[in-house]
Amino acid sequence: MSVPEETMENPHILFLTSGSPWVLAATRTLSDAGLKVEVLANDADLVSTLESLRPDLLLIDADSSDGEGFDACKAARRSSAGENTPILLVTEQGNTERAYSAGATDVVISPPDPAILIHRSRALLAAARAFQEVRKSRESLEQLAYFDRLTALPNRAMFRELLGHELARGQRSQTPVAALLLDIDRFKEINETRGYKLGDQLLEMVAARLLQSLRKTDYVARSAEDTGAQVARQGGDEFALLLTDLAQLDDAGRVAQRILQSLVQPFVLGGEEIFVTASIGIAIAPNDGSDVDSLLQSAETAMYCAKRQGGNNFQFYAESMNEAMVKRLELEANLRRSVERDQLVLFYQPLIDISNRQLVGMEALLRWMHHDLGMVSPAEFIPLAEETGLIVPIGRWVLRTASRQLHRWHVDGFEWLRMAVNIANRQLREPDFVSDVQEILDETGLDPSRLELEVTETSVMKNDQKTLEALQELRKIGVRLAVDDFGTGHSVLTYLRDFPLNTLKIDRSFINGVATEGKDAAITSAVIAMAHRLDLRVVAEGVETEDQLSFLTRHDCDECQGFLFSRPVPASEIGEILADEIRSRRARQSGKSQLKAG
Ligand code: C2E
Ligand code: MG
Ligand code: MG
Repeated sequence: MSVPEETMENPHILFLTSGSPWVLAATRTLSDAGLKVEVLANDADLVSTLESLRPDLLLIDADSSDGEGFDACKAARRSSAGENTPILLVTEQGNTERAYSAGATDVVISPPDPAILIHRSRALLAAARAFQEVRKSRESLEQLAYFDRLTALPNRAMFRELLGHELARGQRSQTPVAALLLDIDRFKEINETRGYKLGDQLLEMVAARLLQSLRKTDYVARSAEDTGAQVARQGGDEFALLLTDLAQLDDAGRVAQRILQSLVQPFVLGGEEIFVTASIGIAIAPNDGSDVDSLLQSAETAMYCAKRQGGNNFQFYAESMNEAMVKRLELEANLRRSVERDQLVLFYQPLIDISNRQLVGMEALLRWMHHDLGMVSPAEFIPLAEETGLIVPIGRWVLRTASRQLHRWHVDGFEWLRMAVNIANRQLREPDFVSDVQEILDETGLDPSRLELEVTETSVMKNDQKTLEALQELRKIGVRLAVDDFGTGHSVLTYLRDFPLNTLKIDRSFINGVATEGKDAAITSAVIAMAHRLDLRVVAEGVETEDQLSFLTRHDCDECQGFLFSRPVPASEIGEILADEIRSRRARQSGKSQLKAG
């Protein structure tokens, strides 16, 4: 066997000798071959020398008949410093068996031939190096398989193993085990607006906070720490925690509360403060699941429930969550197919100019005609569509359908009609949204200023760059922009200054109370005045009574919509409304000309 020289950088040999006559020559031969040799007398403390020196090879001269060399070999093998060190033992013919059973890796017959000694030493060194490399790469493979590279926390596979182990132990000792799943709220947004690199850094910092928050010394954390509460990264922005030997079930809630609390301080990244909240689901074995899969499933259900409560909270799993989840999943599956099954319909609600009671436009309002559930209200399925992203294809359908309908009405002679279409924030943030709108305008040949896109107050309130850019682009292509449900967002008013808006729609909840001249009236009149100062048109939503209308008239509100004039109706019923409108316009016209003539 030829041994490659390059595998032997600076190999270091410890030579334990009993003073045999060939030792001097052998030492010289080895040194001449480029090996570093340290000679140690037989009576010195071999084990401590091994520990301090950590040689790559131990060479033992076991020539003397009293067996000291063999005992040294055994001692080296048994020591932690020497257990993996290759040992080359030089001894007389006939002792080979004894040498191997003392732990020698290889044996050379004494007196050793220098060439054989060098060759065997090199062979052993190369083998040892190869062994070490295999071990290192196996360790790093294990590291890869069980630990998350970004946060260095145990990963999903490791967590499942730990959880399985603890569940079995908990079963034997009849103690509860809790699994917590934590998902960062709106992490996707952070990733998209600030970039993945910063997102990764944020995850690392969150991981550190999680660990830290479990290391405090009050009762809950102490118990968590004593029993080895485990934090793992499940992937993406999801973390998992395992709590064992809980003194009381409520402790899991206290740990969750502490974690939420630990996230309150903003994270400083790239000179910017980032506020992070999370949703946590808690499931406790054996009640919420006695095996890994079912327990994690329950924790996940609870976590989604926490998300739907608006995030920044924790929920214990409850049976009823599952039913709600199943219902939602069914609804989602059905909604997914609603477009292709032609189950979506647009209703239209007239928009009235308050000064002359003329019809000036329509708002398109989506309806879902479900074969079993009947007509599902947008309030029920729009949030679901937003959460799942289904709002993107659905919203595109709405925009195209409403635009085509408007074009048809224009062709029929009602070219003064405007169309308001509701747009979800999720749509605005789609990279193709503006070009989709342009395409629909081109396809229908509509005058862009006849189209008004309504964005909700909560979506402009977020004030993020993507939304702002989309709105600016939309204004450039000439469509009008309205802020819908004004007053419901607990908002700061800065967006009214910063965003390129045309119209402000006062939410129905204020209009409801205007006629009684209380706070709603004060707010509404102030909002109208403010909007006019900002050059915005004001639309009042949900006008149901003449009293409300007369209040709005007195305060110069520009337009309104509501059941007083019409409920939202299908396009087929709009024909009649338009015909009425034409009649009353003509009547007014002839009234005016008679006045003039008179
Ligand atoms: P919105 O855009 O503020 O629409 C006005 C809502 O008020 C409509 O509810 C309408 O039917 C209702 N409404 C109008 N006048 C009156 C009234 O006098 N009294 C009462 N009590 N209610 C009145 P709808 O159609 O159920 O829609 C609810 C919400 O769903 C809409 O609020 C809008 O935010 C959303 N939505 C509807 N269609 C779409 C759509 O195509 N895309 C998106 N993203 N959201 C939509
Ligand atoms: Mg609207
Ligand atoms: Mg509204």
